[in-house]
Amino acid sequence: MSSKQAAPPLPEPLRVPVADSHTHLDMQDSTVEDALKKAASVGVATVVQVGCDLKGSRWAAETAAAYENVHAAVALHPNEAPRIVLGDPDGWSRQGARPGGGDAALDDALTEIDRLAALPHVRAVGETGLDYFRTGPDGVAAQERSFRAHIEMAKRHGKALVIHDREAHADVLRILAEEGAPERTVFHCYSGDAEMAEICSAAGYFLSFAGNVTFKNAQPLRDALTVAPLELILVETDAPFLTPAPYRGRPNAPYLIPVTLRAMAEVRGIGEDTLAEAIARNTARAFGYEAS
Ligand SMILES: [Zn+2]
Ligand SMILES: [Zn+2]
Repeated sequence: MSSKQAAPPLPEPLRVPVADSHTHLDMQDSTVEDALKKAASVGVATVVQVGCDLKGSRWAAETAAAYENVHAAVALHPNEAPRIVLGDPDGWSRQGARPGGGDAALDDALTEIDRLAALPHVRAVGETGLDYFRTGPDGVAAQERSFRAHIEMAKRHGKALVIHDREAHADVLRILAEEGAPERTVFHCYSGDAEMAEICSAAGYFLSFAGNVTFKNAQPLRDALTVAPLELILVETDAPFLTPAPYRGRPNAPYLIPVTLRAMAEVRGIGEDTLAEAIARNTARAFGYEAS
């Protein structure tokens, strides 16, 4: 394996343990045990495992039940909902759902997500929201219907809501306002600018920053990080995606959280421990578990 594809080295451990607020262990090239052990060895003590479809959501719930430091989020991803309604010849996943099954198939899938959302180890409903980058105009209605259903579910179960917002800022904010956002709402892989960060902060939404905050062309993200209140900031890997610089393009995993967190502390002009303490508290509050 060339070093371009090799797993990045272990970073220096954090002195204050934090959580990876959004990861996909089921898409990573590692066992759960190894991923958690490696993460814990550098101070990433807790992870939120996020399901994107029925199979992934069931797996997230099972994994959270099996491991104390794993919390689950369950949902149909904004790109999954249209696949269930419209069908998808390339098939990302169609476990348990009838592809191309119209709104009835989406309702069936949502009923299963609703059942999972009630489980005690499931701390959040998500990732849900809107993705105008991958889903075309024909999928928007399904996406929006699914998003609204997930918001309702999160509120009814008293769980956090995890938002995926890709190139859909205005509509995501509008639908959240129309439905009434749950008490705890997290913008995962926050991708807005400083102006949107002000709007989110005023609404009390958590902003979770991923490895792309380290990318050279991401100044608007760093501006957003600068204006966000410290008590609303989270950190995540979204692994295996969005590996932070200088390892961009190589496989991401929860153990790389310290790389992103250190870059964030630098942007904020605060010490790494101060930021880590805040993030540890914030993540526990966002997802409703006891901070360790
Ligand atoms: Zn996402
Ligand atoms: Zn994700």
